[in-house]
Amino acid sequence: MYEDGLPPLRDVISQYELNARKSLGQNFLTDLNLTGKIARCAEGLGGSSLKDSIIYEVGPGPGALTRALLMEGAHRVVAVEMDPRCIEALTQVQAAYSGRLNVIEGDALKVNEQELIGDTEGRPVKIIANLPYNVGTALLVKWLTLKNWLPWYSSLTLMFQKEVGMRIIAEPRTKAYGRLSVLGQYRADARIMFDVPARAFTPAPKVTSCIVALTPKAEQGDTPKQAILERVVYAAFNQRRKMLRSSLKALGGNPKPFLEAADIKETWRAEELTVADFCRLARAYEK
Ligand code: SAM
Repeated sequence: MYEDGLPPLRDVISQYELNARKSLGQNFLTDLNLTGKIARCAEGLGGSSLKDSIIYEVGPGPGALTRALLMEGAHRVVAVEMDPRCIEALTQVQAAYSGRLNVIEGDALKVNEQELIGDTEGRPVKIIANLPYNVGTALLVKWLTLKNWLPWYSSLTLMFQKEVGMRIIAEPRTKAYGRLSVLGQYRADARIMFDVPARAFTPAPKVTSCIVALTPKAEQGDTPKQAILERVVYAAFNQRRKMLRSSLKALGGNPKPFLEAADIKETWRAEELTVADFCRLARAYEK
């Protein structure tokens, strides 16, 4: 038994026969000390405490992170899980934390999170999750491209493959710099909190993971439309080895006039542009 009176995660996994499914990106954590450390990364992030916040978790699995969030005092946890076996395994956590854990069966890519969370009583919402690797990037993009900005959540604390984490925080003129870096840094302040070795998971994946903390950034003055920025960034990185005068032709027509208007050299390549350069370019293209 652990501090929360619930059985060790390894026992939960064997009791509910949770043999990991690759198709669901299942690599489970079993150490509550580690998940406690992940939960505490979200403390104070985006200006809100865990105790005051409602936590939205994707893929609670057998519940290692969910239990840590509840032990750390999260006001309420709303979790979306696709695997019915895990939902059954979580019933004992729900019983131990009466009224503080809602588990919903669904696909996190498709759900409307705000509807699931329901009345927040004015509390901030934090997204905290050990994301399934196969949909982790798509979920981050979903949360960073919301129409209404600032978004409905105050912070994101997410586990990714290290390689994805490095792409999110990458600087221009590096190999890792790409669409995810521009989108991530345009919308949020992002940093890597710590690495999580493969051996921490059951089964162990092939790669190291990391925890990334993101807080949404307010839009500044003359920002381009999100959809336009995305189009420009996509076109530029889709042919990242080509010069912009050539890669941006994919937007239709001759890109030279708006490259010039944005004061960006037509011989540059996508990876040489900062996030601010991309914003200027998108605004010039918009016009
Ligand atoms: N949070 C648990 C932990 O840390 O041990 C499990 C993490 S595991 C990497 C990812 C979890 O997400 C699995 O439980 C899996 O069933 C679930 N999952 C996979 N795809 C999903 C989706 N599209 N929507 C909701 N849950 C999903």
